[in-house]
Amino acid sequence: MNSRLPTFDDVVAASRVLSQVAHRSPVFTSQTLNKRLEAEVFFKCENFQRIGAFKFRGGYNAVANLSAAQRRAGVVAFSSGNHAQAIALASQLLNVAATIVMPHDAPAAKKAATIGYGARVVSYNRHTEDREQVALALVKEQGLTLIPPYDHPDVIAGQGTAVQELLEDVGGLDSLFVPLGGGGLLSGSLLSAHALAPECAVYGVEPQAGNDGQQSLRSGQIVTIAPPNSIADGALTLGLGKLTFPIIKEYARDILTVDDSQLIKAMQFFAERMKMVVEPTGCLGAAAVFNEIAPVRGQRIGVLLSGGNVDLSAYGRFLQTA
Ligand SMILES: *Cc1c(COP(=O)(O)O)cnc(C)c1O
Repeated sequence: MNSRLPTFDDVVAASRVLSQVAHRSPVFTSQTLNKRLEAEVFFKCENFQRIGAFKFRGGYNAVANLSAAQRRAGVVAFSSGNHAQAIALASQLLNVAATIVMPHDAPAAKKAATIGYGARVVSYNRHTEDREQVALALVKEQGLTLIPPYDHPDVIAGQGTAVQELLEDVGGLDSLFVPLGGGGLLSGSLLSAHALAPECAVYGVEPQAGNDGQQSLRSGQIVTIAPPNSIADGALTLGLGKLTFPIIKEYARDILTVDDSQLIKAMQFFAERMKMVVEPTGCLGAAAVFNEIAPVRGQRIGVLLSGGNVDLSAYGRFLQTA
């Protein structure tokens, strides 16, 4: 198992690997918002990244860095969300066979999208089987390489390229707000921010109902929690990673939380004022800024919008919620 802590040099190497395949996603602003907050807010729009989320960056970098023998044998990932799509598309582009372990009752659209990227889907029963055990059995029996969603140096380095681009494009920032699940995106972002904008205060933002990251930072060790309930389905992880936590502990200013109603208001703002679909998890950082959970007035602020993949019928309900 690869357990070396990544550095900013790895982010720079990942940006070369990704330069011809990942989109350099746009940075958008809103004058309405800037006036309201008396601040300058820059949104890095990874909802416009390939597969609709930043996870393409880390997934592609991880598959691209495998040895020739590992690539020949194929990869496996367990996820019903953006990581699955990322590994499926990255593998297709790199001519690697991908197996995705998904619950038997995963949304049909997600399964179809994964198969559409050329991956094989292996189903398991959520009530009687453990997805990690199912994936590990494939590793053992078929020699596949498991690509974890966040706790892997090449995944972290790839995720860090989004904030590297943001800082190259807009220059120095006073603060930066990043959605937080298992911490791959936040730890990669911290490597880039520390190297390119060392004075910038970087905050991770997680759902209030699943504040394991906040508890971990406050107590100095990884705290794991029971499965939380939130519409931020990309951030329902039970604990930070062995690689992501040390980086977060060293460089993050703080970890903040927002609740589901604040996420819904943020989604409505993006739809109405900026004409963008942002998924609930993608709104975590923005919701912290909109509600001024940390100081924002008079600042230059970066906000990472991490993804835009949301079930349309659920999205319709979110937009209609008063
Ligand atoms: C996976 C994901 C996150 C959380 O990323 P981590 O690296 O697990 O912290 C945030 N937003 C979206 C859209 C995601 O898919």
